[in-house]
Amino acid sequence: MTKILTIISGKGGTGKTTVASCLAVMLSREKKIAVADCDVDAPNLGLSLDLKEKDYFSFIKIRATEKVELIKEKCTRCKKCIDVCSFNAIKWDKKQNIPVFDKLLCEGCGTCKIVCPENAIKLKKVENAIISVGKVYGFGIVSGQLKIGESGSGRIVMEVKRKAREIARKENAELILVDSSAGIGCPVIASVNGSDYVIAVTEPTPSALSDLKRGLKIVNHFGIPFGIVINKYDLNKEFSNKIEKFAQKNKIPILGKIPYNKGFVKALVNLKPAVIYNKRFELLFIRILDNLKKFYEI
Ligand code: SF4
Ligand code: SF4
Repeated sequence: MTKILTIISGKGGTGKTTVASCLAVMLSREKKIAVADCDVDAPNLGLSLDLKEKDYFSFIKIRATEKVELIKEKCTRCKKCIDVCSFNAIKWDKKQNIPVFDKLLCEGCGTCKIVCPENAIKLKKVENAIISVGKVYGFGIVSGQLKIGESGSGRIVMEVKRKAREIARKENAELILVDSSAGIGCPVIASVNGSDYVIAVTEPTPSALSDLKRGLKIVNHFGIPFGIVINKYDLNKEFSNKIEKFAQKNKIPILGKIPYNKGFVKALVNLKPAVIYNKRFELLFIRILDNLKKFYEI
Protein backbone atom coordinates (compact mmCIF):
# COMPACT_ATOMS: atom_id res chain seq x y z
CA MET A 1 0.00 0.00 0.00
CA THR A 2 1.35 3.43 -0.98
CA LYS A 3 2.01 5.62 2.04
CA ILE A 4 1.26 9.34 2.13
CA LEU A 5 3.60 11.83 3.77
CA THR A 6 2.15 15.35 3.95
CA ILE A 7 3.96 18.64 4.57
CA ILE A 8 1.94 21.42 6.19
CA SER A 9 2.64 24.80 7.78
CA GLY A 10 0.06 26.79 9.67
CA LYS A 11 1.61 30.05 8.52
CA GLY A 12 2.59 30.91 4.96
CA GLY A 13 6.20 31.72 4.14
CA THR A 14 7.79 29.31 6.62
CA GLY A 15 9.65 27.43 3.86
CA LYS A 16 7.20 24.52 3.51
CA THR A 17 7.65 24.18 -0.24
CA THR A 18 11.44 24.43 0.04
CA VAL A 19 11.36 21.58 2.56
CA ALA A 20 8.94 19.61 0.35
CA SER A 21 11.11 19.98 -2.77
CA CYS A 22 14.29 18.94 -0.90
CA LEU A 23 12.59 15.96 0.74
CA ALA A 24 11.14 14.90 -2.63
CA VAL A 25 14.60 14.86 -4.23
CA MET A 26 16.23 13.07 -1.27
CA LEU A 27 13.43 10.49 -0.93
CA SER A 28 13.46 9.77 -4.66
CA ARG A 29 17.07 8.62 -4.32
CA GLU A 30 16.08 5.83 -1.97
CA LYS A 31 12.62 4.79 -3.19
CA LYS A 32 10.03 5.26 -5.91
CA ILE A 33 7.84 8.23 -5.06
CA ALA A 34 5.11 10.39 -6.55
CA VAL A 35 4.53 14.00 -5.56
CA ALA A 36 1.28 15.95 -5.22
CA ASP A 37 1.26 19.75 -5.12
CA CYS A 38 -1.97 20.39 -3.23
CA ASP A 39 -1.35 24.09 -2.65
CA VAL A 40 -4.04 24.73 -5.25
CA ASP A 41 -4.26 28.49 -4.64
CA ALA A 42 -0.54 29.02 -5.22
CA PRO A 43 1.08 25.84 -6.59
CA ASN A 44 4.81 26.54 -6.56
CA LEU A 45 6.30 23.11 -5.95
CA GLY A 46 6.79 22.55 -9.70
CA LEU A 47 8.71 25.83 -9.91
CA SER A 48 10.90 24.88 -6.91
CA LEU A 49 11.68 21.61 -8.67
CA ASP A 50 12.67 23.37 -11.89
CA LEU A 51 9.73 21.84 -13.75
CA LYS A 52 9.47 23.34 -17.22
CA GLU A 53 6.42 23.47 -19.50
CA LYS A 54 7.84 20.59 -21.55
CA ASP A 55 8.03 18.38 -18.43
CA TYR A 56 4.21 18.35 -18.16
CA PHE A 57 2.59 15.77 -20.39
CA SER A 58 -1.04 15.83 -19.29
CA PHE A 59 -3.54 18.56 -18.42
CA ILE A 60 -6.95 17.77 -16.96
CA LYS A 61 -9.73 20.35 -16.75
CA ILE A 62 -11.78 20.05 -13.57
CA ARG A 63 -15.42 21.09 -13.25
CA ALA A 64 -16.11 20.92 -9.54
CA THR A 65 -18.15 24.05 -8.88
CA GLU A 66 -21.41 25.52 -10.08
CA LYS A 67 -22.38 29.05 -11.08
CA VAL A 68 -25.78 30.51 -11.85
CA GLU A 69 -27.15 31.28 -15.27
CA LEU A 70 -30.28 33.28 -16.05
CA ILE A 71 -32.87 31.93 -18.48
CA LYS A 72 -33.93 35.36 -19.73
CA GLU A 73 -37.18 34.25 -21.41
CA LYS A 74 -38.47 32.86 -18.12
CA CYS A 75 -37.58 35.89 -15.95
CA THR A 76 -40.63 38.02 -15.06
CA ARG A 77 -38.49 40.74 -13.42
CA CYS A 78 -40.09 40.11 -10.02
CA LYS A 79 -36.78 41.04 -8.28
CA LYS A 80 -37.21 38.31 -5.63
CA CYS A 81 -33.68 37.08 -6.21
CA ILE A 82 -31.95 40.42 -5.83
CA ASP A 83 -31.72 40.61 -2.02
CA VAL A 84 -31.07 36.99 -1.13
CA CYS A 85 -27.45 36.68 -2.22
CA SER A 86 -25.08 36.78 0.76
CA PHE A 87 -22.16 37.18 -1.63
CA ASN A 88 -23.47 40.35 -3.28
CA ALA A 89 -23.27 38.62 -6.65
CA ILE A 90 -26.62 39.85 -8.04
CA LYS A 91 -27.07 43.35 -9.45
CA TRP A 92 -30.00 44.84 -11.28
CA ASP A 93 -29.35 45.98 -14.83
CA LYS A 94 -31.64 49.01 -15.11
CA LYS A 95 -31.20 49.33 -18.88
CA GLN A 96 -32.17 45.76 -19.69
CA ASN A 97 -34.38 45.42 -16.61
CA ILE A 98 -32.95 42.02 -15.64
CA PRO A 99 -30.82 40.61 -12.82
CA VAL A 100 -27.13 40.26 -13.65
CA PHE A 101 -25.02 37.61 -11.92
CA ASP A 102 -21.36 38.29 -11.19
CA LYS A 103 -19.59 35.00 -11.99
CA LEU A 104 -16.56 35.93 -9.91
CA LEU A 105 -18.62 36.58 -6.77
CA CYS A 106 -21.16 33.77 -7.21
CA GLU A 107 -20.43 30.82 -4.90
CA GLY A 108 -23.06 28.61 -6.47
CA CYS A 109 -25.01 28.30 -3.21
CA GLY A 110 -28.30 28.07 -5.14
CA THR A 111 -30.33 30.40 -2.86
CA CYS A 112 -31.44 32.62 -5.75
CA LYS A 113 -32.54 29.53 -7.68
CA ILE A 114 -34.69 28.44 -4.73
CA VAL A 115 -36.46 31.80 -4.35
CA CYS A 116 -37.07 32.32 -8.07
CA PRO A 117 -40.79 31.60 -8.62
CA GLU A 118 -40.33 31.21 -12.38
CA ASN A 119 -37.52 28.67 -12.45
CA ALA A 120 -35.55 31.25 -14.41
CA ILE A 121 -32.23 30.50 -12.69
CA LYS A 122 -30.19 27.38 -13.27
CA LEU A 123 -26.91 26.16 -11.81
CA LYS A 124 -24.29 25.11 -14.32
CA LYS A 125 -21.02 23.23 -13.69
CA VAL A 126 -18.02 25.41 -14.56
CA GLU A 127 -14.34 24.68 -15.05
CA ASN A 128 -12.69 25.82 -11.84
CA ALA A 129 -9.26 24.23 -11.92
CA ILE A 130 -6.67 22.51 -14.00
CA ILE A 131 -4.56 19.55 -12.93
CA SER A 132 -1.17 19.10 -14.59
CA VAL A 133 0.85 15.91 -14.57
CA GLY A 134 4.57 15.92 -15.22
CA LYS A 135 7.85 14.24 -14.46
CA VAL A 136 11.01 15.66 -12.93
CA TYR A 137 14.04 14.15 -11.15
CA GLY A 138 12.63 10.73 -12.08
CA PHE A 139 9.33 11.02 -10.21
CA GLY A 140 5.81 11.89 -11.28
CA ILE A 141 4.30 15.14 -10.03
CA VAL A 142 0.65 16.15 -10.01
CA SER A 143 -0.16 19.80 -9.53
CA GLY A 144 -3.56 21.41 -9.05
CA GLN A 145 -4.26 25.02 -9.88
CA LEU A 146 -7.50 26.74 -8.95
CA LYS A 147 -8.74 29.30 -11.49
CA ILE A 148 -8.80 32.90 -10.32
CA GLY A 149 -11.82 33.71 -8.14
CA GLU A 150 -12.96 30.08 -8.06
CA SER A 151 -13.96 28.10 -5.00
CA GLY A 152 -13.95 24.37 -4.30
CA SER A 153 -10.27 24.11 -3.32
CA GLY A 154 -10.91 21.09 -1.06
CA ARG A 155 -12.46 19.13 -3.93
CA ILE A 156 -9.55 20.02 -6.22
CA VAL A 157 -7.09 18.72 -3.61
CA MET A 158 -9.02 15.43 -3.52
CA GLU A 159 -8.72 15.24 -7.32
CA VAL A 160 -4.97 15.97 -7.21
CA LYS A 161 -4.47 13.23 -4.61
CA ARG A 162 -6.60 10.79 -6.62
CA LYS A 163 -4.46 11.43 -9.71
CA ALA A 164 -1.24 11.11 -7.64
CA ARG A 165 -2.46 7.70 -6.37
CA GLU A 166 -3.09 6.66 -9.97
CA ILE A 167 0.46 7.71 -10.98
CA ALA A 168 1.89 5.97 -7.91
CA ARG A 169 0.05 2.75 -8.82
CA LYS A 170 1.29 2.87 -12.42
CA GLU A 171 4.88 3.51 -11.37
CA ASN A 172 4.88 1.21 -8.33
CA ALA A 173 5.71 4.14 -6.07
CA GLU A 174 5.88 3.31 -2.37
CA LEU A 175 5.28 6.84 -1.17
CA ILE A 176 3.31 9.95 -2.16
CA LEU A 177 4.70 13.23 -0.86
CA VAL A 178 1.98 15.88 -0.52
CA ASP A 179 2.75 19.59 -0.34
CA SER A 180 -0.31 21.13 1.32
CA SER A 181 -1.24 24.80 1.29
CA ALA A 182 -0.58 26.99 4.33
CA GLY A 183 -3.37 27.81 6.76
CA ILE A 184 -6.11 25.68 8.23
CA GLY A 185 -8.78 25.79 5.54
CA CYS A 186 -10.45 23.26 3.24
CA PRO A 187 -7.36 22.49 1.11
CA VAL A 188 -5.32 21.71 4.24
CA ILE A 189 -8.01 19.46 5.68
CA ALA A 190 -8.30 17.66 2.32
CA SER A 191 -4.49 17.32 2.12
CA VAL A 192 -4.08 15.97 5.66
CA ASN A 193 -7.02 13.57 5.52
CA GLY A 194 -5.78 10.08 4.60
CA SER A 195 -2.10 10.86 5.30
CA ASP A 196 0.09 8.39 7.16
CA TYR A 197 2.43 11.00 8.64
CA VAL A 198 2.52 14.81 8.67
CA ILE A 199 5.55 17.09 8.84
CA ALA A 200 4.70 20.58 10.08
CA VAL A 201 7.19 23.25 9.00
CA THR A 202 7.41 26.29 11.22
CA GLU A 203 9.73 29.23 11.94
CA PRO A 204 10.69 30.92 15.21
CA THR A 205 8.07 33.68 15.33
CA PRO A 206 5.00 34.04 17.58
CA SER A 207 2.62 34.05 14.60
CA ALA A 208 4.17 30.89 13.16
CA LEU A 209 3.85 29.07 16.51
CA SER A 210 0.26 30.21 16.93
CA ASP A 211 -0.61 29.04 13.38
CA LEU A 212 1.33 25.80 13.89
CA LYS A 213 -0.82 24.97 16.92
CA ARG A 214 -3.96 25.59 14.86
CA GLY A 215 -2.65 23.42 12.02
CA LEU A 216 -1.75 20.60 14.40
CA LYS A 217 -5.32 20.58 15.74
CA ILE A 218 -6.41 19.41 12.27
CA VAL A 219 -3.77 16.66 12.24
CA ASN A 220 -4.77 15.60 15.76
CA HIS A 221 -8.40 15.50 14.71
CA PHE A 222 -7.54 12.78 12.19
CA GLY A 223 -5.26 10.99 14.68
CA ILE A 224 -2.28 11.14 12.32
CA PRO A 225 1.26 11.04 13.79
CA PHE A 226 3.34 14.15 13.12
CA GLY A 227 6.65 15.87 13.72
CA ILE A 228 7.97 19.42 13.47
CA VAL A 229 10.74 20.99 11.39
CA ILE A 230 11.90 24.43 12.56
CA ASN A 231 13.13 26.43 9.60
CA LYS A 232 15.50 29.42 10.03
CA TYR A 233 15.74 28.35 13.69
CA ASP A 234 18.87 30.44 14.34
CA LEU A 235 17.17 33.74 13.43
CA ASN A 236 15.54 33.69 16.87
CA LYS A 237 17.07 30.97 19.03
CA GLU A 238 15.10 32.05 22.09
CA PHE A 239 11.82 31.51 20.29
CA SER A 240 13.08 28.27 18.72
CA ASN A 241 13.60 27.04 22.30
CA LYS A 242 10.00 27.99 23.03
CA ILE A 243 8.83 25.85 20.08
CA GLU A 244 11.01 22.97 21.28
CA LYS A 245 9.53 23.26 24.79
CA PHE A 246 6.03 23.24 23.30
CA ALA A 247 6.97 20.12 21.30
CA GLN A 248 8.51 18.41 24.33
CA LYS A 249 5.48 19.17 26.49
CA ASN A 250 3.17 17.70 23.86
CA LYS A 251 5.46 14.77 23.01
CA ILE A 252 5.90 15.95 19.42
CA PRO A 253 9.24 15.00 17.85
CA ILE A 254 11.41 17.76 16.41
CA LEU A 255 12.54 16.16 13.16
CA GLY A 256 15.00 18.84 12.22
CA LYS A 257 16.22 22.40 12.61
CA ILE A 258 17.27 24.24 9.47
CA PRO A 259 19.53 27.28 9.84
CA TYR A 260 18.95 30.48 7.90
CA ASN A 261 21.15 30.51 4.83
CA LYS A 262 20.98 32.81 1.81
CA GLY A 263 21.65 29.71 -0.31
CA PHE A 264 18.01 28.69 0.15
CA VAL A 265 16.85 32.00 -1.32
CA LYS A 266 19.37 31.69 -4.18
CA ALA A 267 18.11 28.17 -4.88
CA LEU A 268 14.54 29.52 -5.09
CA VAL A 269 15.60 32.35 -7.40
CA ASN A 270 17.39 29.81 -9.60
CA LEU A 271 14.35 27.49 -9.55
CA LYS A 272 16.35 24.62 -8.09
CA PRO A 273 15.67 22.47 -5.01
CA ALA A 274 18.18 23.66 -2.39
CA VAL A 275 19.77 20.18 -2.17
CA ILE A 276 20.51 20.33 -5.90
CA TYR A 277 21.64 23.97 -5.84
CA ASN A 278 24.10 23.31 -3.02
CA LYS A 279 25.04 19.74 -2.10
CA ARG A 280 26.00 20.87 1.41
CA PHE A 281 22.27 21.22 2.21
CA GLU A 282 21.76 17.49 1.66
CA LEU A 283 22.95 16.63 5.17
CA LEU A 284 20.16 18.71 6.76
CA PHE A 285 17.52 16.72 4.92
CA ILE A 286 19.25 13.37 5.45
CA ARG A 287 19.02 14.12 9.18
CA ILE A 288 15.33 15.02 8.92
CA LEU A 289 14.61 11.75 7.10
CA ASP A 290 16.70 9.74 9.58
CA ASN A 291 14.75 11.29 12.46
CA LEU A 292 11.46 10.66 10.66
CA LYS A 293 12.37 6.99 10.25
CA LYS A 294 12.81 6.71 14.04
CA PHE A 295 9.14 7.58 14.47
CA TYR A 296 7.58 6.31 11.30
CA GLU A 297 8.43 3.65 8.76
CA ILE A 298 8.23 5.38 5.39
S1 SF4 B 1 -26.07 30.94 -6.43
FE1 SF4 B 1 -25.79 31.86 -4.42
S2 SF4 B 1 -23.92 33.02 -4.63
FE2 SF4 B 1 -24.60 32.62 -6.68
S3 SF4 B 1 -25.79 34.41 -7.24
FE3 SF4 B 1 -27.22 32.89 -6.43
S4 SF4 B 1 -27.41 33.42 -4.26
FE4 SF4 B 1 -25.58 34.44 -5.05
S1 SF4 C 1 -36.44 35.83 -9.01
FE1 SF4 C 1 -36.43 34.83 -11.02
S2 SF4 C 1 -38.06 35.79 -12.13
FE2 SF4 C 1 -37.64 37.09 -10.39
S3 SF4 C 1 -36.16 38.58 -11.17
FE3 SF4 C 1 -34.98 36.94 -10.28
S4 SF4 C 1 -34.62 35.59 -11.98
FE4 SF4 C 1 -36.22 36.89 -12.63
